Amino acid sequence: MAYFTSNRSAGRHFLQIPGPTNVPDRVLRAMDNPTMDHRGPDFGILGKRVLEKLRPVFATSGPVIIYPASGTGAWEAALVNTLSPGDTVLMCETGWFAHLWQEMAGRLGLKARLLETDWRRGADVAAIAEALRGDRGHEIKAVCVVHNETSTGCTSRIEEVRAALDAAAHPALLLVDTISSLGSIRYEHEAWGVDVTVAGSQKGLMLPPGLSFNAVSAKALKASETARLPRSFWDWKPMLAANATGYFPYTPATNLLYALDTALDMLLEEGLGDVFSRHDRHAEATRRAVRRWGLEIQCEEPRHYSSALTAVRVPEGHSANALRAAILERFDMSLGNGLGRLNDRVFRIGHLGAFNDLSLLGTLGGVEMGLRVAGVPHEGGGVQAAMDYLSGNA
Ligand code: PLP
Repeated sequence: MAYFTSNRSAGRHFLQIPGPTNVPDRVLRAMDNPTMDHRGPDFGILGKRVLEKLRPVFATSGPVIIYPASGTGAWEAALVNTLSPGDTVLMCETGWFAHLWQEMAGRLGLKARLLETDWRRGADVAAIAEALRGDRGHEIKAVCVVHNETSTGCTSRIEEVRAALDAAAHPALLLVDTISSLGSIRYEHEAWGVDVTVAGSQKGLMLPPGLSFNAVSAKALKASETARLPRSFWDWKPMLAANATGYFPYTPATNLLYALDTALDMLLEEGLGDVFSRHDRHAEATRRAVRRWGLEIQCEEPRHYSSALTAVRVPEGHSANALRAAILERFDMSLGNGLGRLNDRVFRIGHLGAFNDLSLLGTLGGVEMGLRVAGVPHEGGGVQAAMDYLSGNA
C-alpha cells in the first residue's frame, strides 16, 4: 500500500518538518511486536517500566501521565484538571501554538489574559512579572507558556518565568507546553517548579504521533481536587490509580508504548546532556548556513534561539510556500510551512529527534539547491559554513 500520491524518487524522503520527526528503525521494529492483552500480566511490567523511564526525561520525581492523544489533548488535560470555569489564565502569545492554546482556554470557559509578542522572541518575562505584581487579588490562577514555539523557532526561558512567580510571591500554577522541546532542549520540570508539563510523542521523543503527556507537580495534584472544569477522558485521578500497577483506565496505545519504551532507552543510552548538546550544535550549524545565505532568522533574540528548529524568513516579494514546493518536488524533502501570520513568509527547518551531522548536511544541501531552483536571492556557501562548523566542533 502506497501512502504517498506524489512520485517519490529513489532513496529516502527527507522529513525535515519540526515534527513529526523521523522514527528510528529501532523504534519501528519495537512497534512491530504483536499487540498484547492490556489487562494481562505482561502489560503491567511494560506500563510500570515506561512510566518510570519517563521521569528522567521530564526531570521529575513525580507522576507522568500518558494519553492516547495528540498534543492538543494534553493541553486540554492540563487546563481541565487544574482550573474552574471563569478562572483567569495568563497566556504568552509567542506564536501560533500559544495562540491555539489560548483559543482552547477561551472555549473551555477560562478568561485568557494575553501578553502579546511580535513572534520573534520567547515569552516576555518582564511583562509576566509586571502582570503578576499587579495582580494583588491573585485573580490569575495559572501562567501558560509554550517552551519551544514551533511556529517561530523561539524558546522561552522557563526558569526566568518561575523566578518571576517567586519574586511576586504569586500562587498561580505554571503550565508549560514542551511538545517540541522535550527530549531536544534542556528542560527541568521539578527544578523549574513547573506544575504541569505538556508533551507529545512525535518530536524529540522520536515516536509517531499519537501519545501525549502531562507531568504533574504535587501542587497541581492538589489543585485538581477542587478544580471544577468538566473532565472525564482527561481526568488524572483514575489514570493515576490505574498507573500505580502499570495499567490504564481505558485501552492504551499498546504498540506506541513499545515504541516509547525503546525510544526512552535510546535517549537515556545517549545521555540527555549529550542529546541536548547534539541539538544545540545542529541548530548553530543551521544558523551559520542561514546567515551565509544572507537570509534572516525569524528569532531575533539570540538567547531565545531554538535548538529544535530554525524558522527562516524569505526576502520580501518571494514565497516561502513556492520554495517549499520546489524543494519537495525536486529533492523529495518536506520543510515546515509558515503558520498563521507567518504563512508564506517563513519556512521551518526541523533539526530535532533522530538526526546527525550528515542528515543536517543533506537537509541544508536541499535548502541551498532549492533556493537556487526557486529563484530566491541568496549567497552560496551555506552548506560549507555548516560543514566548517561541524567538522571543527566534534
Ligand atoms: N504545541 C506545540 C508547541 C506544537 O508544536 C504542537 C504541534 O505541532 C502542538 C502544541 C499541538 O500538538 P498536536 O498537533 O500534536 O495536537
